[in-house]
Amino acid sequence: MSKPDTNEKKSPLREQLTHKTANVWSKATAAERKQIMEFGKEYSAFLDAAKTEREAVKEIVEVASRTGFSDLTGEGTGGRYFHNYKGKVASLFVNGSAPISAGLHIIVAHIDAPRLDLKQNPLYEDSGLAMLKTHYYGGIKKYQWVSRPLAMHGVVVLPDGKSIEICLGEDPADPVFTIADLLPHLWGKTQATKKAPEIITGEQLNLVTGSLPWDEDEDDTDSIKMHVLQLLHEKYGIAESDFISAEIEIVPACKARDVGLDRGLIGAYGHDDRVCSWSALQAALQVENPVKTTCVLLMDKEEIGSETDTGSASRYIETALRLYLAKEGLNDNPLDVLAVSNCLSADVNAAINPNWKSVHDKQNACLLGHGPVLTKFTGSRGKGGSNDAHAEFLGWLRGMLQAAGIRYQTAELGKVDEGGGGTVALFFARYGMNVVDLGVGLIGMHSPFEVAAKSDIWMAWRAYKAFLEA
Ligand code: MN
Ligand code: MN
Repeated sequence: MSKPDTNEKKSPLREQLTHKTANVWSKATAAERKQIMEFGKEYSAFLDAAKTEREAVKEIVEVASRTGFSDLTGEGTGGRYFHNYKGKVASLFVNGSAPISAGLHIIVAHIDAPRLDLKQNPLYEDSGLAMLKTHYYGGIKKYQWVSRPLAMHGVVVLPDGKSIEICLGEDPADPVFTIADLLPHLWGKTQATKKAPEIITGEQLNLVTGSLPWDEDEDDTDSIKMHVLQLLHEKYGIAESDFISAEIEIVPACKARDVGLDRGLIGAYGHDDRVCSWSALQAALQVENPVKTTCVLLMDKEEIGSETDTGSASRYIETALRLYLAKEGLNDNPLDVLAVSNCLSADVNAAINPNWKSVHDKQNACLLGHGPVLTKFTGSRGKGGSNDAHAEFLGWLRGMLQAAGIRYQTAELGKVDEGGGGTVALFFARYGMNVVDLGVGLIGMHSPFEVAAKSDIWMAWRAYKAFLEA
């Protein structure tokens, strides 16, 4: 329950003039608290079902089709559409009441997350074990990936076009994989004196994959590797050369879990940025009578710089918008529409972690549980490489969020010159649209077990829905 204000003597002028954020939970009604918990449960189920961008797109398309959205490339009409782009990007459009020439309300989030990818020739045998080589994807602290159960998700495409899906390590009956660390008894000269980034090197991120020799072969130089190949062939019909045309992602073999006795937090792999993706998706599915036509983009490749055809630096938004315009029989120029649009870049920010407070400027940092985080600019070394939202757009946005009863906070990503990071905001600003970052705060970001507050996720969804409907 929230504290009664009876003992506090506050001047109304103080209230009016000072800026303070509040814990979303303490201001929530009993019905809202129930909603917050329920929303967290549904989101956790999504996280467990969608550990890769491909799996996320499948889930998104499935729920969109089920809730009255038609495929932009199909026959259906009705003003609510989804688009599946190469199985790695999804977008959703909902017709607004204003003409399209007034611009779109766009939310963009990303569905890729840091992980380990299998190399194209990954399998070898060493010291009585079959091993798989990986190449990490995105900004990871490599030492966090050792000595934990790992799962394998992905796709193998054969030369005849047949596509084989792999998901191993999620079912409790499945085996898992692991990267074995060095024992502390022997780490003195080899590991203990190294700097953190070199404790485990990229070439040491090799997965233990098998240990039993194949029976049908006398050759003992690679009979364990041969056994793994035989098992893969038996289960999936693939051979060693098929890894060449495979995308296999290694992720933590762990389900999303409630964290803390009060169950206010969710710990999981891949909050960044499925937390904003899922909240934006729910907003897109539930949007009612929007003024502007709405567009929610769930993009790939953010964690490696947003390049490639499925990243935000591509021209995918033009492709999707052209399909939408054709579907609705509109002749507007997509670039003219984008130039007058408004966009929320929905990505995570770093909330204050009690163990590492010194990296933040406290009054320009976010707290778990105080609502989604408005980030005017990101970048590093003097805002380098960042979008920087206009005061005019922020003024409008504040008015809109206030009118919708949304609690939010504002933050930078760490102290000035402490480090930095970026989002996809700048790629959309190139079109002339207004863009600002609004997303959920995390602690333990980019680790195999990131932590987010249920109340922030719920409030982010409400903020996104209010923006789409504005
Ligand atoms: Mn992100
Ligand atoms: Mn990230």
